[in-house]
Amino acid sequence: MSELHYNHAAPYIKPAYVQRALSVELPGYPFDLGGVIDLQEEDGTIRDTKVKDKTPSAGFADDDDQMTLYAALEYLHSGNLPKLVYDCLIDTKIEKYVPLETARVADDFDVLLRRIDAACNAIEKGVFLPAKETDWWCGEYSCWYWKSCKFVKRSRRVADTQAVPESKPVENKVSMDEVVDRLTDKIFDSLLN
Ligand code: SF4
Repeated sequence: MSELHYNHAAPYIKPAYVQRALSVELPGYPFDLGGVIDLQEEDGTIRDTKVKDKTPSAGFADDDDQMTLYAALEYLHSGNLPKLVYDCLIDTKIEKYVPLETARVADDFDVLLRRIDAACNAIEKGVFLPAKETDWWCGEYSCWYWKSCKFVKRSRRVADTQAVPESKPVENKVSMDEVVDRLTDKIFDSLLN
């Protein structure tokens, strides 16, 4: 796998940071928000290498919470939303290198903020901690609550009040302005002022 990366990915990567630790204080919360970014390029692109036994779907790159966290940390430090790339090394009979490019938008950060709140509740009260959107049991056909669950991005859910009679109709859009307001006003105020 390392040879695959050496031959097909490494020649095109311009590293600026390796194992970059970023964190922000969360005022009023019992923990800080932090992460270690494997590799970041000169133009800010965040890259993560994954070894897989089959080619992952685009959904994997779009829904992975880890990248959402990295994108949020970079945004809070630099004010820029970075390009995000998974360097997938596919460990099959014929090894393959598959780069998956993705991005994060307000909808993703909206869920991240809800997860921060839920994690805070879980730590303080020992209550429900939501599954990750990439967990196999967290899906339209495996969880009854999926269509109305606030821990799943609104753009992935379809309002279906017949399937979930008591759920409220779901708004399909969340604006970046709304999320930035929440980032700045509610949680990250001290960082940005
Ligand atoms: S959709 Fe279901 S499994 Fe996924 S976070 Fe919500 S309640 Fe948990």
